[in-house]
Amino acid sequence: MEKKDKKNVRVRFAPSPTGLFHVGSARTALFNYLYAKKNKGKVILRIEDTDRERSVKEYEEDIMRSIEWLGLGWDEGPFRQSEREEIYKKYVMDLLESKKAYYCFCNKERLEEMRNEQREKKEPPRYDGKCFSLTKEKREEKINKGEQFTIRLKISEEDVVEFDDLIRGPVKFNARDIGGDFVIAKGDFSVLYNFACVIDDYEMQITHVIRGEDHISNTPKQILIQKALDFPSSEFAHIALTLGTDKSKLSKRHGAVSISEYREKGYLPEALVNFIALLGWHPGGENEIYGLGELIEKFSLSDCQKSGAVFDIKKLDYMNGCYIRKMSTEDLAVRCIPYLADAGFIKVGFKENRYPPAYGGVRPEANYYTTDEGEIHFPKIVQIVSLYQERIKFLSEVKDLLDYFFKDELEFEKELLFWKDAGEGETEKNIDKCIEIVSSIEKWEKVAIEEVFLHEANKEKDRGRLLWPLRVALTGKKASAGPFDVAWVLGPEKTLKRLKMAKNRLKTE
Ligand code: GLU
Repeated sequence: MEKKDKKNVRVRFAPSPTGLFHVGSARTALFNYLYAKKNKGKVILRIEDTDRERSVKEYEEDIMRSIEWLGLGWDEGPFRQSEREEIYKKYVMDLLESKKAYYCFCNKERLEEMRNEQREKKEPPRYDGKCFSLTKEKREEKINKGEQFTIRLKISEEDVVEFDDLIRGPVKFNARDIGGDFVIAKGDFSVLYNFACVIDDYEMQITHVIRGEDHISNTPKQILIQKALDFPSSEFAHIALTLGTDKSKLSKRHGAVSISEYREKGYLPEALVNFIALLGWHPGGENEIYGLGELIEKFSLSDCQKSGAVFDIKKLDYMNGCYIRKMSTEDLAVRCIPYLADAGFIKVGFKENRYPPAYGGVRPEANYYTTDEGEIHFPKIVQIVSLYQERIKFLSEVKDLLDYFFKDELEFEKELLFWKDAGEGETEKNIDKCIEIVSSIEKWEKVAIEEVFLHEANKEKDRGRLLWPLRVALTGKKASAGPFDVAWVLGPEKTLKRLKMAKNRLKTE
């Protein structure tokens, strides 16, 4: 059970910038965020870059950009461990002073030998504490000689470390099993992850440590460090890992990619947040679609599952589709614009007095758009996008689907215009019929266009004879939005032009 007292909740999200920001990290960030916001607490962003060789600035930027894009944000930070070394050193010195930590001069060879012996005796591998008993003189002599050392925390092997995990319940570790006195700092006093983590959690007054289950083996070490320093213990919650649909370790093969890749593909941040929140947590009931506000309201660590959560990309696609259908077409068009621009269909220009950057510069009324044929007004883009709102799963699909609206000339084989066994002659006749129909329509409205065309097409045994060449002439494709809708969006002039172009194409070789 979660404890009742949740005053001044402070959580931290502590990624290591050693790779692109992935679903697993995003979930940890989200659960921390939800828990903090639910309890009116604060989220602290801490970049754990103590591993200098593997930490990369671009990854740090990717982490922050992705968190912001997901709409989560943080209240304090970013703090970087690489900028806090003096703080850690002070605590290491305190521990050395109070003899709770000591210098260890054992070299690799000795440690290796010791481990081999333990293995032979079928004992668990652990440091035997040899250097703890070094005299002050001996220690100073070794330091003066320039011998390499590490700093180890003195632990009592009889100790039992227990904590009440907010997700998993009571957890118990025997200190004996964690490998004896463990290293907290290297010879240059640069500290290792577990130590930096404990100091930061204390200094940043973190009340709840919510992180992936892969860190559970670090927790006893961290509790022992907290004890040695007389720090209060934090609450811990370890979130079960995420697995692929085949229950194996989650990877690209399961469609799990970095958050920036999802963004590029055109998943909506709100859909992704919804999907990620349900990886290992569910508020109960049938509903699967939750906005961020609802997630905050309903979130609870005790509802998180203990066993691995299954990542199913099909579910993400489904959810993204739900969000796409739910939003206004104007909003969808705004979100599709970067993709249309990226595909080269439109260019985005900014008007003089556009909205301030806080609006992201994409307020439709603030921009103007051009195609190869000149300016295209925002409402026209809305019309185009509206034809696909029911069918796309993610936004980048518009790059392949909408091309024909932005081209002057379509490329296709003339045979594509033939419906079943219809040859050139019959197809030409039907295209002429289409031209006649289009010219006869007085009010260019969706319903009117459909009505007139269907009326004519229904006179045929097979409606495709008229409607197939219409579709191909207007789109150059076998599959597209409905031909009446396409005609409606193209407008009467362009529709006529395309029909005439198709007719001319029949005359080519
Ligand atoms: N830096 C660790 C990671 O990225 C997280 C450590 C923690 O949350 O305590 O996996």
